[in-house]
Amino acid sequence: MTELESFRQEARDWLEANCPETMRHPYRSEADPCWGGRNCKFQSEDQRLWLQRMSEKGWTVPTWATEYGGGGLNREQNKILKEELGRIHARPALESFGISMLGPALLKFGSEELKKQHLPAIARGHIRWAQGYSEPNAGSDLASLQARADDHGDHFILNGSKVWTSYGDLGDWMFCLVRTEFEASKHEGISFVLFDMATPGVSTRPIKLISGKSPFTETIFEDVRIEKDQVIGELNRGWTVAKYLLTHEREMIAGSGLLRAGTVPISKTAIHTLGTENGMLHNTMLRGDIAQFEIDTRCLELTIERARDEVKAGVSLGAASSMFKYYGTELNKRRNELLMAIGGNESLVWEGSDSQDGQLPKSWLRSKGNSIEGGTSEIQLNIVAKHILGLPG
Ligand SMILES: Cc1cc2nc3c(=O)[nH]c(=O)nc-3n(C[C@H](O)[C@H](O)[C@H](O)COP(=O)(O)OP(=O)(O)OC[C@H]3O[C@@H](n4cnc5c(N)ncnc54)[C@H](O)[C@@H]3O)c2cc1C
Repeated sequence: MTELESFRQEARDWLEANCPETMRHPYRSEADPCWGGRNCKFQSEDQRLWLQRMSEKGWTVPTWATEYGGGGLNREQNKILKEELGRIHARPALESFGISMLGPALLKFGSEELKKQHLPAIARGHIRWAQGYSEPNAGSDLASLQARADDHGDHFILNGSKVWTSYGDLGDWMFCLVRTEFEASKHEGISFVLFDMATPGVSTRPIKLISGKSPFTETIFEDVRIEKDQVIGELNRGWTVAKYLLTHEREMIAGSGLLRAGTVPISKTAIHTLGTENGMLHNTMLRGDIAQFEIDTRCLELTIERARDEVKAGVSLGAASSMFKYYGTELNKRRNELLMAIGGNESLVWEGSDSQDGQLPKSWLRSKGNSIEGGTSEIQLNIVAKHILGLPG
């Protein structure tokens, strides 16, 4: 047996023994993912156990070093682990902006003290992170941000506001872009800071979404104290950290269009809902659209896989994350359109048992935001045009 084969066997045995039966099903509603955090309310004992076991094993962040709470796996082992998780349809034990966004930035730019302070807590799901980037007048043009942190010796005092903070009311800590130098050009003078959202002076106001939910907040800062040792990277050079984090955010959002362990393939949903004639869906147009969607999804998966191999070989992902973000979010919108078509009249039911409390139309409406969050499609296309195709700006 090769080393990788024995790793596969080990992972399979461990997952068989440790993944609770109820965690081996796709998410059924938006409430199913576990986001951890200080105020986490587990939906079931199995959900709590699954997070505890996975984090003790280091497999909530399989490729991080063990000293930071990771599993210390290499890329091949991680790929095998993903396949084994997929084989039993295991749900992710933890969804987390800490894992997908802040973690990579901390690993690259954080001091050893900051890594030791924050990474293990992210890996265990103890702290839930919120992202403080956008402001009322700084979205696509993010570098125009105005939240100002004034120097008070060993700390800063922050005033200003952020907007569209996803789950701002549920966040424990925030990673935030603030202006620390006021005379410099707009990309300079920005710092990347971390602070506890329970600090006096931080407040949030809900913003209602088209789906009727309120997963967003406005976040207001009034004389908030930020310790100077919570600056990531160099003071006034936070733009570099911010851009690096965005490439990871975009890669994460691109994944929303892909088939993850927690979702059922569209073709299976269609067969289950509509039935077949001679082993095929009756509606030929829908059949064609689903086939094309599944082919395109596979192509994106393979292209992302190839890009990851290139990253391993030392090529920077850079602007390619914009290409993936653009295409992945368009795919996710198509996936939701197809699910609406498959559901027929049932797709229009906003509340009720069969539609799982309007999960289908709410998820369809939510998918519209995919091509805005993390930078709009227009902005991604601008980046692709300039940095990949080399077209004039
Ligand atoms: C679901 C969701 C979750 C989000 N979560 C967070 C979060 O947690 N934290 C956070 O900080 N922010 C978050 N955001 C905010 C998001 O990052 C911004 O909405 C986004 O960057 C766009 O900024 P804006 O809304 O100010 O739009 P604007 O920048 O005002 O853009 C308006 C329109 O103009 C177009 N446009 C702007 N500039 C150009 C240009 N140069 N070329 C071509 N077209 C252009 C845009 O594409 C868009 O269509 C979230 C947004 C959504 C939808």
